[in-house]
Amino acid sequence: MAPQADTDPEGVRARIEALPGAAEVRAAASETAVDAFFVGGSVRDALLGRGRADLDVLVVGDHLALARALGGETVVHDRFATATVAGPHGSIDLARARAESYPSPGALPEVRPAGLAEDLARRDFTINAMAVPVTQPGELIDPHGGRADLRSGLLRVLHDGSFSDDPTRALRAARYAARLGFEIDDRTLELLRAADLATVSADRVAAELARIAGERELRGALELVRDWELIALDPELPALAAAAAGLVSVEPWADLTDRSAIVVDATLGTALAQARALAAEPPESPWHAVAAARGRSPVVLVLARVLGAEWLDTYLTQWSRVRLEITGEDLLAEGVEQGPAVGRGLSAALRAKLEGTTRGRADELRVALEGARGPEMLL
Ligand code: ATP
Repeated sequence: MAPQADTDPEGVRARIEALPGAAEVRAAASETAVDAFFVGGSVRDALLGRGRADLDVLVVGDHLALARALGGETVVHDRFATATVAGPHGSIDLARARAESYPSPGALPEVRPAGLAEDLARRDFTINAMAVPVTQPGELIDPHGGRADLRSGLLRVLHDGSFSDDPTRALRAARYAARLGFEIDDRTLELLRAADLATVSADRVAAELARIAGERELRGALELVRDWELIALDPELPALAAAAAGLVSVEPWADLTDRSAIVVDATLGTALAQARALAAEPPESPWHAVAAARGRSPVVLVLARVLGAEWLDTYLTQWSRVRLEITGEDLLAEGVEQGPAVGRGLSAALRAKLEGTTRGRADELRVALEGARGPEMLL
């Protein structure tokens, strides 16, 4: 059945048309005579009265003709028949209307061109499965009851196979629920708890986690991921990851790493376990601090800092910046053999410098030569 145009005078169309870029989309759609619809997050957020930086536009037909008419810098993704146009009015996501079938659970879908109804039916949640025509008359097209769910604050999938087709939708649910403060419809929650992310490639899981990392409600979203047991998370991880994400926005930690790396590495990798080990043993001296922290990934350092390793502030701003005046070349020139002895010597000199027992180059060289010729240094 074709989706029904909704005549509810909520002014959703006017609100979308007021968004940056909407007038250009309308002009380009008229010029190319393609059948285009505002969809997805643009419609959802317009109904919620939330601001939004990008527009999602669905084209039944040639989406690239619309991209060309819009002008601007265009990136085309052939695999899914989508394109992103960046222009003075922000970013516009264009997609050709398509139907999807899943060759196996969690695999990327096979796609074929389709009409609006089929495209809306392949979407994740009812609140994301609405459309507003760009040039045709009519207000809201809402075949799955998205507006009612928006009003009730509910996330609901469109069919029972949704999470087995694409388990990353369960992570998307956590992101939307935390961001919007929505509940999960009972049946959807039952299906969601059975979602098996093991069927999905690690890259796709990481990509959804990176999107969670960009949320203001990062902690809440990760708590849902934990509570729904989508990924086995350390109980403290949501709070720690959120604190770490906050830390990298202030000096001296600003820009050491980014929120996505924190969330992805803490969630899927060993960063949190390493950080716990690092934070558990406060170093006896600056040298011990350097020996423990150097070579660690920035994510491990940031997590260890939020776990209470305050000495890492000094490591970052001072100790990690201490440099020797000598290099390995100087040791080779003094007849030290190429190999581990050079590293041993340089370590001995760095240790002495950090402990304040060397002054200047000659002193460093002396200590380094002793170290290079002596037995392997024990920490
Ligand atoms: P945001 O508000 O964070 O930008 P969005 O709602 O615009 O999110 P996108 O990930 O940009 O979401 O995707 C745009 C639309 O495409 C969604 O609203 C949804 O309708 C659909 N969509 C995206 N990913 C999936 C998926 N894995 N399964 C089904 N539909 C999806």
